[in-house]
Amino acid sequence: MKKALSLPYIWKTILATLFVAGFISFFFSANANTPFEPKRTQHALPEQTKHLEPSATSSEPTAKEWQELVVKIRKNGSLGAALDRLKISPATTHAINKLKNSHYLTNVRSGDQLTVWVDKHHQLQKILYPKSQTLSHELIKTENGYRILEKKKPIDIRTETASGIINGSFYIAAKKAGLSARSIMNLSDVFAWDVDFSRELQSGDTFKVIYETKYLDGKYIGDGNILAAQITSNNQKQTHQAFIVRDNDKVIGYYDEKGRNLKKAFLRSPVDYVRITSKYNPKRFHPVLKRTRPHRGVDYGGPKGTPIRATGDGKVIFRGWGKGYGRYVKIKHAGKYTTLYAHFSKFGKFKKGQHVKQGDIIGYMGKTGMVTGVHLHYEFRVKNKHVDPLKVKFPDAQPLAKKYRAEFKTTSTFLLSQLKRLDGRTHVARNFE
Ligand SMILES: [Zn+2]
Repeated sequence: MKKALSLPYIWKTILATLFVAGFISFFFSANANTPFEPKRTQHALPEQTKHLEPSATSSEPTAKEWQELVVKIRKNGSLGAALDRLKISPATTHAINKLKNSHYLTNVRSGDQLTVWVDKHHQLQKILYPKSQTLSHELIKTENGYRILEKKKPIDIRTETASGIINGSFYIAAKKAGLSARSIMNLSDVFAWDVDFSRELQSGDTFKVIYETKYLDGKYIGDGNILAAQITSNNQKQTHQAFIVRDNDKVIGYYDEKGRNLKKAFLRSPVDYVRITSKYNPKRFHPVLKRTRPHRGVDYGGPKGTPIRATGDGKVIFRGWGKGYGRYVKIKHAGKYTTLYAHFSKFGKFKKGQHVKQGDIIGYMGKTGMVTGVHLHYEFRVKNKHVDPLKVKFPDAQPLAKKYRAEFKTTSTFLLSQLKRLDGRTHVARNFE
């Protein structure tokens, strides 16, 4: 299937613009494997003193007599300075510094907030240092002196399903089915190489998704990974399926029922917002040279400075100036493929000889060389012969590694049976088992 747009980026931008304000969950979980960022208080909290109410966290019988103090780390501050402001003796701070795992407490960042408990003699009893929603470091006093502990709250992962039928906009149908903006983005990312979401999804097309949601203390905190999905396109003429492969927590990729990678070795386009201004044409009349000269690439229009991405993994084999090309970059990819990107206003950070990953920014759109206006000229060569980048059939990215195949067979078979049970017409079917 052909696809002229690089959708992951388009979707990301459109959806982020629409939903950035409301979707804290998206913020928290840009990557399911990233630990949650600590929630930081923006305003300056006054140092305060209050009496500790007996609570579940203070089981100690004497805890009722403790005082709870809250202290915030100042700019370039330290634990010692913070404790000093609470009038806790330097000897105590010194003792903390010598403890095992002292860095749990001493690696502080300005703005972090610590809760400190002291007894009636103003002796330090306990410190609570929350590092994130799920992780906190604590100092407690035991019979044998202070100890530093790490406490992790487990995130409860649940599996949910959503399905729907498109009536006009896929985005609206997906929202109606209960999918978050983040999961909608993930879904378009998963199928980005196969489905042009803006042009190929029509009214009547259906989608089914099995995905993870995350809960902390029983509260929904965001969506996790998509485990499996099925989508029809072109008025149900085509059906696309995706199944996740993970290695522990790391997502290896998405594969179809036969274990083929959904990702292709090349992006269809090196720029996010695509406006093709000149196509591949062996008999083009050149606007500057005023004579017939083949156009062996595709031109993309856009504002000066638009980031240009390497369409595939590879190695930069040229970065410099060419009379016609202006500032340009040439990349050699695995096998027989090379790509060329020209007329940059400036280069990205990758130099000649360095490796680039698919999607890495290698330069910015400009009008250097023999051109009439700002654009990117993009060439794709197979065995050093030019081909039309919009028509060439891209090779699949790496197939599923052997070591995952047996497990993939089991999980994808199971997930497929679950997908089949979902009716594209029911909006939300929760309580997935
Ligand atoms: Zn061109």
